[in-house]
Amino acid sequence: MIDPFGRSISYLRVSVTDRCDLRCVYCMAEEMTFLPRAEVLSLEELDRLCGAFIRLGVQKLRITGGEPLVRRDVMTLFRSLGARLGQGLEELTLTTNGTQLVKYAEELAAAGVRRVNVSLDTLSPETFKHVTRWGRIEKTMAGIRAAKQAGLDVKINAVALKGVNEDEFDDMLAWCGHEGLDLTLIETMPMGDVGDRTEQYLPLSVVRARLRRRWTLTETTYRTGGPARYFDVAETGRRLGFITPMTHNFCESCNRVRLTCTGTLFMCLGQDDAADLRQVLRSGADDAVLEAAIREAISRKPLGHDFVIDRRRPAAKVGRTMSLTGG
Ligand code: SAM
Ligand code: SF4
Repeated sequence: MIDPFGRSISYLRVSVTDRCDLRCVYCMAEEMTFLPRAEVLSLEELDRLCGAFIRLGVQKLRITGGEPLVRRDVMTLFRSLGARLGQGLEELTLTTNGTQLVKYAEELAAAGVRRVNVSLDTLSPETFKHVTRWGRIEKTMAGIRAAKQAGLDVKINAVALKGVNEDEFDDMLAWCGHEGLDLTLIETMPMGDVGDRTEQYLPLSVVRARLRRRWTLTETTYRTGGPARYFDVAETGRRLGFITPMTHNFCESCNRVRLTCTGTLFMCLGQDDAADLRQVLRSGADDAVLEAAIREAISRKPLGHDFVIDRRRPAAKVGRTMSLTGG
């Protein structure tokens, strides 16, 4: 699949649920209304759609949400997708808050998952509770340990929040080095109606300059197929990634599209244009029609997003939350 700008689309992120056991302040409102079940694709429908994408050239699948591991029977999907590894699919991975990893790490590894991204914004139990509204850090920490024990490669994702965790990045980098984990920092993006984010926004250019006072960071060409840019950290021997949708537009090399749990395909995280693949699926379409609908959608992939967080202008923002589109 080649889009109108010559980019080859090989990476699909799939949100398998909009539900979550946490309520991170930048992601969800405290009182969330979740989708009626009939609107959410069944695991069989998700598997069929992923199969179509793989036939069309997707080599990397990332399962996300909401919290993917709170979806009932989600391991059935991991197993059926894992069976496609080596048959067009090269990598099956997930992004999780880690709370269910004690339960599922072994099964994920058995299904063929090799790497997992765990979201953890802080090392402080109090800050964790504040950011997630009610989460307990111990559960996520235990999940990280279980994932490592199961042989999974764990990367930590942390959203940089002004006045919340900005004093912690030195400690987090040291902790990740000690635990043998890579760390990626993410800028907050203006998504969904969960409050004014201009107060929380912290440019990663500032964070990087601060980290350079203590750490020797050398830019690398290492890529994981995602939007992060990586630096080697000489003191720890691990990598530090930065995802900077706000200060650096990474769209020129975008190889990704996103499928929501309702079967809506978003060709760009920061744009509203989408294709309704659930309607195609549920109309009884055969594989050829389904593949044609996907190709048609890819032919509309826009050049890029235009997120702006600027106090002088209203933020360019998209209405849906990250928990719907899948971060
Ligand atoms: N529940 C899982 C988790 O937290 O890892 C997967 C879904 S979550 C939506 C995926 C990622 O999106 C997380 O790393 C989260 O921190 C990030 N995220 C959510 N809302 C965001 C926002 N407004 N700006 C930047 N990152 C965000
Ligand atoms: Fe849940 Fe992940 Fe959103 Fe936090 S970031 S509320 S863990 S979906």
